Amino acid sequence: MDCCSTSSALLSLDQALDKLLSQATTVCQTEQISLTQAAGRITAQAATSPINVPPFANSAMDGYAVRLSDVSESAILPVAGKAFAGQPFHGEWQQGSCIRIMTGAPVPAGTDAVIMQEQAEVIGDGVRFSIQPKAGQNIRLAGEDIRQGAEVLPAGCKLGAAELPLLASLGVAQVNVYRRLKVALFSTGDELQTIGQPLQDGQIYDTNRFAVRLMLEKLDCEVIDLGIIRDDEQAIREVFSQADNQADVVISSGGVSVGEADYTKQILDELGEISFWKLAIKPGKPFAFGKLNHALFCGLPGNPVSAALTFYQLVQPLLIKLSGYSQWQKPRQITVKTTTPLKKTSGRMDFQRGILTANAQGELTVKTTGHQGSHIFSSFSQANCFIVLERERGAVAAGEWVTVEPFNHLLENN
Ligand code: AMP
Ligand code: MG
Repeated sequence: MDCCSTSSALLSLDQALDKLLSQATTVCQTEQISLTQAAGRITAQAATSPINVPPFANSAMDGYAVRLSDVSESAILPVAGKAFAGQPFHGEWQQGSCIRIMTGAPVPAGTDAVIMQEQAEVIGDGVRFSIQPKAGQNIRLAGEDIRQGAEVLPAGCKLGAAELPLLASLGVAQVNVYRRLKVALFSTGDELQTIGQPLQDGQIYDTNRFAVRLMLEKLDCEVIDLGIIRDDEQAIREVFSQADNQADVVISSGGVSVGEADYTKQILDELGEISFWKLAIKPGKPFAFGKLNHALFCGLPGNPVSAALTFYQLVQPLLIKLSGYSQWQKPRQITVKTTTPLKKTSGRMDFQRGILTANAQGELTVKTTGHQGSHIFSSFSQANCFIVLERERGAVAAGEWVTVEPFNHLLENN
C-alpha cells in the first residue's frame, strides 16, 4: 500500500530515506587533481601503491650487519664499511666481515641480520658479538608495510587527514576523484531579510540559507547561492528554472507547508515531478522531493530547526550517495537515561535537542535543552545530540531510557 495515498498519511523517516536514495545515482564525471587540492574529495577509483613500503630492506636498529654463519662467540669480524640512512654502503661486502649500520640504512647485499650495538664489543678494528642472531633479525623487509601494486584505498573513499598523507608516503601526486556536486540553494519568504540589513516591520533574518550553506560546504559541495526569493509566482518560477539549469540538486526552504504548498506545487508541477510529503517526524513535517527537468529537488520546511533536521536526516544522505562516498553510515545511536522529563505526544518520531554528558563514573546521561519549538534554533548551539523518541511513545519521565544520536557542531556526525 502506498503510505502517501491519502493526504493525512504520514511517511516515516526510513520510508522517506528509501525513496530519496532510490533516486540517487553517483555523479559519473571524474577528474584528476593534485593531492594538495584533494582534501574532502571522494576517490573515483581504488588507489594502488606504485612502490614497495619500505622500498628496500633496511635496518631497524643501530648496530652491525652480519652474515649468520660468520658469527660465533669467539669470532672478531673486521668492520668493512658503513651504511647510514640515505647513504648506503656502496662497497662489496666481503664474507667474514661486518658493516656498521644505522637505523633506516639499506642492508648490504650478502648480510642477513643486524645485531644491535648493545650486543657488540669493539676490539681494535673488529667487533665481537655476544649473541647468535636469527635470520632476518632487526631487518625491515622491502614491501613489509605495503606491497607494490596493493590497494591502499578503495573507490568511494573520502580523502582526509589519514588518507592523504598515506598517498603522499607512496609518492602519489595526483588522484582521480568524482567531481564536486553542484547544489543550488535559495530561501523563500516575503518576511526574510539578509544579514547586515536592518529588519523592517514584520521581517526576520534568513537563518536557513546560512545553516544549509554551511552544511553543504562541510560536504564539499559547490554551492550556488541564489539568495532570498519573494513569495511571487513569477520570481519562484524563474529561480527554479535557473537553479535547475545550473545544479545537480536544488534545495529551497519555506513554502512547502499546507496552504503555501498548493502555490509552489503548481509551479513545480509545470517543471517536474515533485511529491509533497508529510513526514512522521517532529520537527520537520512538510518536505518536498522530486525531479525537476535536470536536477533533483529537496524542499525544506521553513522553520529553522525543521530545515536543519530534515537536511541532516534526509538531504545529507542523498548528497553523500550522489557524491560517490560509499563508506557513509547512518548516525550512531546509543541508549542512555534521561535526567529530565521529556514532553512528547504519540504519532510522530521526535528529534529533541539534548545535552549528553558523562558523570564522574563515566556513565552517560542526557537532558533536554528546554523548549523544543521548531523555531528555537538556539537549542542547536546548546545541544550535542538528538534525543530520538519513538513514534508511538508518549511523555517520558526522568530516569527512563532513551535513544540518543550524538552530533558535533552544526550536525556533523562523520
Ligand atoms: P513556511 O514553511 O514558509 O510556511 O515557514 C514556516 C516558518 O518558518 C515561518 O515562521 C517562517 O517565517 C519561518 N521561515 C521560513 N523561512 C525561513 C528562513 N529562511 N529563516 C528563518 N525562518 C524562516
Ligand atoms: Mg514562507
